Amino acid sequence: MNTYKLLTPGPLTTTKTVKEEMLLDRCTWDQDYKDITQKIRTQLLEFASVPQEAYTTVLMQGSGTFVVESVMTTAIGEQDKVLIVTNGAYGERIVKMAQTNGLNYVEYGVAYNEYPEEMDIRRLLEEDQQITHIAMVHCETTTGILNPIDMISKLAKKFDKTLIVDAMSSFGGIDIDVAELGIDYLISSANKCIQGVPGFGFVITNLEKLKACEGNARSLSLDLYDQWKEMDKEGKWRYTSPTHVVAAFAKAMEELVEEGGIPARFARYQQNNYLLRERLEKIGIQAYIPVEKQSPIITTFLFPSEQFSFEQFYGYVKARGYVIYPGKLTDVDTFRIGNIGEIYEDDIQELCTIIEKYMKVVAA
Ligand SMILES: *Cc1c(COP(=O)(O)O)cnc(C)c1O
Repeated sequence: MNTYKLLTPGPLTTTKTVKEEMLLDRCTWDQDYKDITQKIRTQLLEFASVPQEAYTTVLMQGSGTFVVESVMTTAIGEQDKVLIVTNGAYGERIVKMAQTNGLNYVEYGVAYNEYPEEMDIRRLLEEDQQITHIAMVHCETTTGILNPIDMISKLAKKFDKTLIVDAMSSFGGIDIDVAELGIDYLISSANKCIQGVPGFGFVITNLEKLKACEGNARSLSLDLYDQWKEMDKEGKWRYTSPTHVVAAFAKAMEELVEEGGIPARFARYQQNNYLLRERLEKIGIQAYIPVEKQSPIITTFLFPSEQFSFEQFYGYVKARGYVIYPGKLTDVDTFRIGNIGEIYEDDIQELCTIIEKYMKVVAA
């Protein structure tokens, strides 16, 4: 059996109690199970600070990407056009979805360590009247940059565009006032900051916008509208749902509340992140994203030297109880460390001590 903790951006380290929820086999037709689904849907609206009558939650089978694709292919109709803002691999994945599904789109991309420019987006929206939707990633897990959701939200409101946010790696760990920001579709999944296990994702959506999407979908199984129609009756999923995962997620939500809700979890993640950056910087391991743009979710670090071997480093750290993540950049050599999940200050301190030792003994 492996006994390491995951310092990765999901699946992540979960509590024993969350895992224990999966020891029971549940019936998808049973009222108790359907009640769990409905409770999750309602509680997610509370986490998102949205009025219950104007928004709804749709749960969807699959990993996070399936759910993003479900939104993109249901929300964007034949007559629509989406502006996709990118500065990382997850934004680019949305572009790929648009291409694969033949959606009408335009991409506005900037470098992975930069924010999108308000002036540029404004100009694009002024010049291209066909644009109806804007899609963006909140925390770009590729680098750990936290994108300026306020700025995009203001533009979406001003130009009256439907706003789609991939908040996969931030929701639950960073407070997002979905109603205030006017986000029409917010997407996240079970195995990120709410600290469940992988198997489904969810969309917190403006009810009026969703209702207008009937018949839009380009896929049967990923039809977000049909999924909502069925689920909204009494909590029954269309097609088999990941029952064990759903039960574990309900428990994970309870534990988020017990911790003190999103503000408390944010504070823990933030402290983990500051501590990690600070201690590694002292031994010459620099973060790729400057601290002002850094999310409290995951950090990309530059290799400390030319001779640095990620494979060797990874093996050394893993043998001592922690699993880290390779980098995802093509122009510079990097690795990543996530600090979300059931990870506390003691873990980060221990990890940093392991890394310090590696740098002294092995890399020297
Ligand atoms: C995790 C993640 C996804 C979904 O990835 P899957 O591997 O499909 O779960 C999408 N966007 C972002 C920003 C993510 O962090």
